[in-house]
Amino acid sequence: MVPCLQKAKDELVLTLPARLPLLVATALAVTPTLTWACSAGADALTWHGFARFTGFAAAGLFAVSMLLMLRLTWLDRAFRGLGHVYQAHHALGVAGFLLLLVHPLALALGALRVEPAAALRLLWPDPSSKVVFSGWLALLLFLFFFVVTVAQRMPFRRWRRWHRAMGLSYGAMVWHLVTAYRGSVAAGLALGLVTLGVLGFAHRLLAEDPPWRGLRYRITSVRRRGPKVVDLVLEPLDKALRFEAGQFVYLAMRDSPDYRACGESHPYTLTGHPDDPRLRVSVKALGFCTRHVQDVTVGTEAVVQGPFGGLFPPKTQSRPQVWIGGGIGVTPFLGRASIIAADEPSIDIVYCAANEGAALYLEDLRAFARDRSNMRIHTIYEDTDGLPTISAIESRVGSLEGKEFMLAGPPAMIDALRRALRAHGVPASRIHAEEGMAR
Ligand SMILES: Cc1cc2nc3c(=O)[nH]c(=O)nc-3n(C[C@H](O)[C@H](O)[C@H](O)COP(=O)(O)OP(=O)(O)OC[C@H]3O[C@@H](n4cnc5c(N)ncnc54)[C@H](O)[C@@H]3O)c2cc1C
Repeated sequence: MVPCLQKAKDELVLTLPARLPLLVATALAVTPTLTWACSAGADALTWHGFARFTGFAAAGLFAVSMLLMLRLTWLDRAFRGLGHVYQAHHALGVAGFLLLLVHPLALALGALRVEPAAALRLLWPDPSSKVVFSGWLALLLFLFFFVVTVAQRMPFRRWRRWHRAMGLSYGAMVWHLVTAYRGSVAAGLALGLVTLGVLGFAHRLLAEDPPWRGLRYRITSVRRRGPKVVDLVLEPLDKALRFEAGQFVYLAMRDSPDYRACGESHPYTLTGHPDDPRLRVSVKALGFCTRHVQDVTVGTEAVVQGPFGGLFPPKTQSRPQVWIGGGIGVTPFLGRASIIAADEPSIDIVYCAANEGAALYLEDLRAFARDRSNMRIHTIYEDTDGLPTISAIESRVGSLEGKEFMLAGPPAMIDALRRALRAHGVPASRIHAEEGMAR
């Protein structure tokens, strides 16, 4: 299958717990369409009616998709992970886009039956008609941003800028709705929904992305772990964050006299115990911002948003678990291992790294396992064992049957392991990862 179609398919297949909120979000999105359909009578069965149906549905789907961009802890909880929220954002956005493509065609087909010249006028962005022009502007902008951000591979930072610029197409769609407004209840509902979407988008841009909103912390310890990895301890300046072991936060450093921050917030896993008011994170230099973080100094202030994360669903705790972490992806297991009691079902931790020297947190994990008879630590080193395969994992942890799998690490590792586990008969509901966080 074409990679971008395969990706769209993967993203539409949300894990089970996230389906109910997705259903609620979709129901909200199609409320204007259904309201219109209930009152349209015979008009609903014409091309013109179909065009309205697709138009209202696209507007509703885009509006709810915009709301699902928000980094809200209650959305994270409802969807069992912020990644699922983003997947739903993406799925509704793509569905809205497809309906938007159909909308002008259905309108033109409707007009064709009455007057062919009118049908042609609809298929051209005629600047003398605000409705037609704004509709085409929205469609062309969506098409442009869709091709640029979805079909093209580009570095993450550039993709994020283009993806945000997609708000312009949303603005054009709002303009189209306003100019096309005819005073019906359905149109009123659609306008209300898209206004909420605009507010959501503005909130994300003005109140969530800038690193000044969130809980204030101060860095009290900076310890270099390896050539590209630094361990930080942060203490609260006001209220301390409450979190569950293995969750993550968005963290942004502020400028200090001897440190210039990158000015962005990024997701990092909390590696400490939830009872400790201090936060611990380990940051590997993987790009622009994380390279900056390597030079952070004690005393620097930071802003924390969260907590987020659905790697350890509550219902999994009664079954034996296999945690597979690749590189810095081992961080959720450092936090989680600290709260495991010795009488819980067995935990096998498989630490995948290039070699022993690169397994920076192996001793930390071994220390946890020393006090817990139910915890075993295994390693798979790429230099000597190759990449993690099912047989390599099985040879270390035993039968995979009846176990829950938590995967954390590079997206490519998670994708490969998920496919291999599924091919080996492990049900999708037993495989957990912070999916949807990577583009
Ligand atoms: C749930 C989660 C937990 C994480 N925990 C840790 C951790 O404990 N320690 C650690 O070192 N790293 C962690 N990461 C990875 C870390 O967030 C990225 O390395 C960092 O965001 C890269 O930013 P950059 O500017 O340095 O690099 P960029 O060049 O901007 O990005 C490098 C890669 O990082 C990813 N990335 C960048 N920004 C984001 C973002 N806002 N959201 C999701 N992915 C992004 C993209 O895949 C991108 O290709 C975690 C990521 C996620 C999603």
